[in-house]
Amino acid sequence: MNLLLNPTPMPQTIPTTLEKIYRRLLETFGPQHWWPAQTKFEVIVGAILTQNTNWGNVEKALENLKKQKVLFPWRLYDIPTEKLAQLIRPAGYFNVKAKRLKNFMEFFFKEYGGNLKKMQSESLEVLRSKLLSVNGIGPETADSILLYALDKPVFVVDAYTKRILLRHNLAHPDADYHEIQEYFMRHFPMDVKQFNEFHALIVRLGKDYCRTKPRCEQCPLKDIAYSLTYKCRRCHRALPLKKERISFQEGYFCLNCQR
Ligand code: SF4
Repeated sequence: MNLLLNPTPMPQTIPTTLEKIYRRLLETFGPQHWWPAQTKFEVIVGAILTQNTNWGNVEKALENLKKQKVLFPWRLYDIPTEKLAQLIRPAGYFNVKAKRLKNFMEFFFKEYGGNLKKMQSESLEVLRSKLLSVNGIGPETADSILLYALDKPVFVVDAYTKRILLRHNLAHPDADYHEIQEYFMRHFPMDVKQFNEFHALIVRLGKDYCRTKPRCEQCPLKDIAYSLTYKCRRCHRALPLKKERISFQEGYFCLNCQR
């Protein structure tokens, strides 16, 4: 079942909404210059370290790695896991993340000899599925590596993305990572630069405005149709209770309007 509210491309409506959101965010916040890193390899390490923590903590961990001069493929491959865990301690879950980094390094050297260019020459589909097979690398981390370190045209979905789409009635609450990603990739230009910028702008929007308690009145998207409640697509009545909503591919209907 496709859980996005408008699964087929509709050039007159959905792309306009996404593109309108993108343009508005770019006008408001300006370019975000992502990913903040000096090297592609640093992007990969940062993408693994940023799981379940804020970027400030990741920066401290990266700084420790730089001070010890281990933020290089062969040095990170060689360093004992326990020592690595101590260096990345500020990023939280340091024992788990040290193992994840080592898992990635094993994969990186086994498959590509520790060579980023070789890794980059792999096709997007093959590389994505290989990355997802590495223990500790989920879809968001894999896609961040693909987009920000390897310039592959793939959209990164995070919790902010889903929250904003939901609040603007562009996705179903049960839509999963891949359905949301497919939605962006079908309705927004497949362009590395724009995917890069759009994800970064969404993170900025989520941090500044679309928080758990949204700040809609000040938000740059406040005039782009949004709703913090589910509404019947036909009679537009608010449907706060789950049992009041009948869900179809096109969205929600109330019990009266279901036919
Ligand atoms: S804060 Fe309100 S207007 Fe802004 S993105 Fe979130 S739901 Fe939309």
